[in-house]
Amino acid sequence: MTGLAKDARIFVAGHRGMVGSAILRLLQQQGYRNVLTRTRKELDLCDRHAVDAFFAKEKPEHIILAAAKVGGIFANNSYPVEFVRDNLLIQTNVIDAAYQHGVKRLIFLGSSCIYPRECKQPIREEYLLTGPLEPTNRPYAVAKIAGIEMCWAYNRQHGAQYLAIMPTNIYGLNDNYDLDTSHVLPALIRKCHEAKINGQKPVTVWGTGVPLRELLYVDDLAEACIFLLADDNAMTSLTAPEHLPIINVGYGEDLSIRELVKLVSEVVGFTGEIIFDSEKPDGTPRKLLDIGKITALGWKPKVSLREGIEESYHAYLFTQHHA
Ligand code: GDP
Repeated sequence: MTGLAKDARIFVAGHRGMVGSAILRLLQQQGYRNVLTRTRKELDLCDRHAVDAFFAKEKPEHIILAAAKVGGIFANNSYPVEFVRDNLLIQTNVIDAAYQHGVKRLIFLGSSCIYPRECKQPIREEYLLTGPLEPTNRPYAVAKIAGIEMCWAYNRQHGAQYLAIMPTNIYGLNDNYDLDTSHVLPALIRKCHEAKINGQKPVTVWGTGVPLRELLYVDDLAEACIFLLADDNAMTSLTAPEHLPIINVGYGEDLSIRELVKLVSEVVGFTGEIIFDSEKPDGTPRKLLDIGKITALGWKPKVSLREGIEESYHAYLFTQHHA
């Protein structure tokens, strides 16, 4: 089954990010010896010449493209230019350079927000482009949809094996805890923790608390990426030219923001009041992925939401103490 030699030259683009760093950790744990990485300072993925020079010199055989401009609902709303421009540049440069330099396999990471706002649930891969997108993250979503289309084009026209993985909301080690740009879970961990140590002050949660979100621990996503990349049969069938090369990776269950705050409060030990600020946007009402395709291949999530929140909180406390 394994099509990935331990000495294969695997380029993890975006290894400093939450997803890329989890993939790098797991590749190293699994004994891959030739993992290639570059920091943003060493290689600007928005710069095509630099990307070409890197590929010519290092000759990666496989690529996991986890580099992207990402952020929560507020960041997406505030910086539409960066979200559409940087993502288009990074993915265009890396995917085309991959082809030009003979890279056979590439994993492109997207997000569940590529699906229509009012999508039928749970969301199957073929629901892509069946309705209007959620406006708060449309620039990001449109860029990612273009990336999927690119993967498909190279598969069709050039027989490449470029696969787009669509994860649900991810959280875990190396998450972003900046309240202006983070996603909901790290924001809630930080808010509940700070409120607790300040004498159980009230916590303000954005929106109505009604939207539903599915959350997956980042190590589970990393495992899914390597699992797929290493499976010859799966890669061949998922990237066959006749269909969109896209596969969902999720937890399989969702919960409301209200329930999520309750869970985070329990883990953190926050017992104060919770206020919902309905002036702030709710975003998509629900985006639960159908994970039938990947579970049929033999992958399933291992880390429960409570365990994942506990791990994340411990990691958050550690970084607080060592800041
Ligand atoms: P989304 O999944 O793309 O909508 O991104 P987020 O993770 O940023 O937000 C998910 C949901 O959590 C939205 O309904 C937000 O309004 C809600 N939410 C509640 N409190 C917060 C918070 O403090 N930060 C963020 N980012 N979202 C929050």
